[in-house]
Amino acid sequence: MNKKTLRDIDVTGKRVLVRVDFNVPLDNETRRILDDTRIRAALPTIEALRARGAKTILVSHLGRPDGKVVESARMAPVAARLADLIGAPVPCATDVIGESARATVAALEPGGVAMLENVRFEPGEEKDDEALARALAAFADVYVNDAFGTAHRAHASTAGVAAFLPAVAGLLMEKEIDYLGRIVTNPEPPVAAIIGGAKISSKIAVLQHLLSKVNVLLIGGGMASTFLKAQGVNIGASLVEDDQLETARAVIAGAAEAGVMIGLPSDAVVADKFAEDADYETVSIKSVPEAWMILDVGPRTVADYRAKLEGMKTVVWNGPLGVAEWPAFAEGSNEIARALAAMDATVVIGGGETVALVTALGLAGAYAHVSTGGGASLEFLEGKELPGVVALLDR
Ligand code: ADP
Ligand code: MG
Repeated sequence: MNKKTLRDIDVTGKRVLVRVDFNVPLDNETRRILDDTRIRAALPTIEALRARGAKTILVSHLGRPDGKVVESARMAPVAARLADLIGAPVPCATDVIGESARATVAALEPGGVAMLENVRFEPGEEKDDEALARALAAFADVYVNDAFGTAHRAHASTAGVAAFLPAVAGLLMEKEIDYLGRIVTNPEPPVAAIIGGAKISSKIAVLQHLLSKVNVLLIGGGMASTFLKAQGVNIGASLVEDDQLETARAVIAGAAEAGVMIGLPSDAVVADKFAEDADYETVSIKSVPEAWMILDVGPRTVADYRAKLEGMKTVVWNGPLGVAEWPAFAEGSNEIARALAAMDATVVIGGGETVALVTALGLAGAYAHVSTGGGASLEFLEGKELPGVVALLDR
């Protein structure tokens, strides 16, 4: 990575403001944390700062309070979980830059960790307001951005604050950029991308960008239906984006030009309605019944994709191959998840639903990298610069 990290600076005894992404799912009623993956992902940075005697001030957003105080979006339960995880108290301010925040920061001892209130309680956060950025910066001597999941947003706490303090990447940020960067800059060849998910329109920029990077491009999910229709296949009542048929043809033509091998489904699991309890059967892609819809790839497609993945040294996967949240239509995605876990290759998984499915299978630890940022990883793979990364000091 061409950015400085917290390894490159002296933090001993210093006040360090760390932007983390602790936007964890909470139970609506009990406010219990349903999944603390994002908190755990920041532990290497927090532990490194503690070990080096820094005064660590954490700041995150939680939910969408839209610039006002929302009681149900307070950070207190998150601070409590972090305290459990590190075995040390984590005092939590009840405001972001006010009296409580000042007192909380002032009370920090070297090696201590505290948390500010939900930064999106401040109306200036999402506007990248300079006054808010300055107020946050005033708490600290150094800024560390470890919130990869929010790095694609130019907000006061992700980008703005970096103008007023020496700004470096945290260890999670570094790992995300190293692994995702390896896909877009110099991946070990041969390289494959598996792109699925609901819509071609949300992934088209990735498809186009990856065409110049990969040797093999495997397509699944709802967007495969648009590709199939663009090739004259009868897809029955499947989800289709008719305004994207030209785009699909352009991707196929672009692949041919670039010498990229494209994989499209040769069979499918079709359902008589879009429902978890729908009737379903596996059919050849040439015989999708008129009123039925494709909700997963079939076993022949999985076998074909596995064969095409053989010998690949780098694989990136973004987007499920079917409606993986419903067991009857999860088999294609699950099979690919297992196949990738067994490969001798650098496998990088991104995308909210895709990460959820490999995690549910207990396979998250089996790949080189599972990204914590859905939208951010997608924008990175599109070749975009992330404002939260651009703002950091160059190495
Ligand atoms: P990710 O979050 O991993 O980037 P997306 O958000 O792009 O993935 O897409 C995930 C969604 O795509 C899931 O909700 C899934 O139900 C849907 N999907 C996958 N295959 C199909 C299909 N054949 N028809 C309709 N929806 C699909
Ligand atoms: Mg998604």
